[in-house]
Amino acid sequence: MSDCIFCAIAAKDVHGRIVHETEHSLAFLDVNPLAPGHTLVVPKDHYARLDDLPEEISADLWRTVDELVPRVEDAVDADATNVGVNNGPAAGQEVEHVHVHIVPRFDGDGGSPIHAVGGTRPDLSDEELDDIETAISN
Ligand code: 5GP
Ligand code: ZN
Repeated sequence: MSDCIFCAIAAKDVHGRIVHETEHSLAFLDVNPLAPGHTLVVPKDHYARLDDLPEEISADLWRTVDELVPRVEDAVDADATNVGVNNGPAAGQEVEHVHVHIVPRFDGDGGSPIHAVGGTRPDLSDEELDDIETAISN
């Protein structure tokens, strides 16, 4: 897509600190990192959301994430990582080109677990939970 910053990085039209590349995926450092080593893994082609990804591209993306997590942790001597996707604007996605965040975490760094992403916690009845269970499994 012509006005997409991650497409421009993938096309090497815009400089990115690229740390790994496969046939379908690219990994580069986040320009505004939440922690040293904060890395983004993206498909080279433009897809807005996870469910837009063809199977082969999705498999390559997640394989790349799997490979990079220990490399990122080792590189910055992290104790752990948060790995996540803001999948859609309502979830906080600002760049509408799929990207997986790998955020290194350090003991006592003052950050939050992934549970912190939710809004007010819902108080769901057993019937509502039954309906959700059925809706997802169908
Ligand atoms: P989102 O909120 O869409 O999940 O996250 C977008 C991420 O992309 C942010 O963490 C932001 O710092 C990063 N980002 C935005 N523009 C650029 C850029 O031009 N280069 C790089 N390397 N990262 C970017
Ligand atoms: Zn794009």
